[in-house]
This record gives sequence, C-alpha cells and structure tokens, in this order.
Amino acid sequence: MSGWGKPPGEESEDARLKTFQRSGEALFTGGLNNSHSGNLSVRVDNAMWITRTRTMCHKLDRDDVVVAALDGGGDRSELSREAIVHETVYRETGHDAVVHCHPRDAIAAAFLFDNIPCLQIEGQGALKGMLPVIEVEIASASPQLSDAVARSLLLYPAVMVRGHGLFAAGSSLDQATHRAFVANETAFFYLMAKRHGADIDDLMSRPYIRIPYGTSPANSEKPA
Ligand SMILES: [Zn+2]
Repeated sequence: MSGWGKPPGEESEDARLKTFQRSGEALFTGGLNNSHSGNLSVRVDNAMWITRTRTMCHKLDRDDVVVAALDGGGDRSELSREAIVHETVYRETGHDAVVHCHPRDAIAAAFLFDNIPCLQIEGQGALKGMLPVIEVEIASASPQLSDAVARSLLLYPAVMVRGHGLFAAGSSLDQATHRAFVANETAFFYLMAKRHGADIDDLMSRPYIRIPYGTSPANSEKPA
C-alpha cells in the first residue's frame, strides 16, 4: 500500500529501529499502552523483527528489537511473549507489520460488545467499518489466540481480544499504529454514543458513512 513509507524489508536497520521507536512512543503517549504492555513487529523476508520481552515500548534501544525466523525455530527466550501471535499472522495473512497494545477505551468496549461499528469516516476507511471482538479461553500467547487473531486479520485490519488488548496489522508499523489509534477512537465514540442513547442504526445509515476519505470532487482539483 502506498503512502505509509517503505515496506519493512526495504528499510535500513537504522530506519527500521526508528519506526519501532516512533510507534512505541506514540502508543504510550496516546494512552494505548502502559509502562510495559504491548509489542511490535515487522516481517522481513522469512523472518520477523520483534520487540524483546519485558521492554518498555516507548523507550526502545537497539537491543530491544530482536530477529527470529518465522518457522518457530531458534532461541525464542528473548522474544515478546506474544511472538506466537505475530508469527501466525505473518504465516496466515499478507500483513507486514503487527502492533499489539492495551488501549483502555477499546478494552472497556470489548467487555460489552461483540462487534464495534465505526461511526466516523476515518474508521470506515482505516478499519473497513468494524472493529471485531474475539474471546478465547487462553487470551495470551496461545495457539488458540494466534489462530483466532490471524483469522480476524484476514477480514479486518484490527481485532480486539476480550479481556486483553488489541492486535492491529498493516503494510508498515506506521499504518498498523494508525489503525490501533483509530480502533481505540472507534470504541470511545461507540461507548459515548451508546451511553447517550444515540440511534446507532440511524447513524450508520447516514450518507457520509459510505463516502470514503479523499473522494470529494474538490479533491480531484488538487495537484497530484
Ligand atoms: Zn498484551
């Protein structure tokens, strides 16, 4: 996908580290992670670069991002505990970056709803209109979780795991991070609308919902 920077495999190691640092800082300052929650990864050829276990994702140094083969082999002791989810997503989908975080509004909304529709046009574009919620018995680092997350990410760019957090994917960490923010905002807007008694079906039927970003006639008059 264009507009989201180079694919991870075409970046230098220095540039790749900067994308990890940029995403980690944004997720923390935006309230989508606590001091030690979350993990980030990108796919490069048959391997993934992923944050080390117990890192603070908003304070990443070079040693905090480690590489692992996607075949499950090698020493896995340094990898993020959710590495099994990340590598399953890379094996089962076409995504090249995965963000996992603990966004408060989205976690709260996922206690209450099985699907969280996007009431704002940014969510219609970035999340394909829906933030799905999955529930599994072992909601961290399990094969069951990995399979459920990968299945959801084939259909939607982000998925909530009830009682745990969010997985968002994309062509780059920048794009996956943006999707994580939009997912949390989607949940906040939906919670607010429900709390204040809004007619959700009416909001979802409005014409603006079906017209994507950037398709206004005025946009065609802008220079390329
Ligand atoms: Zn987590």
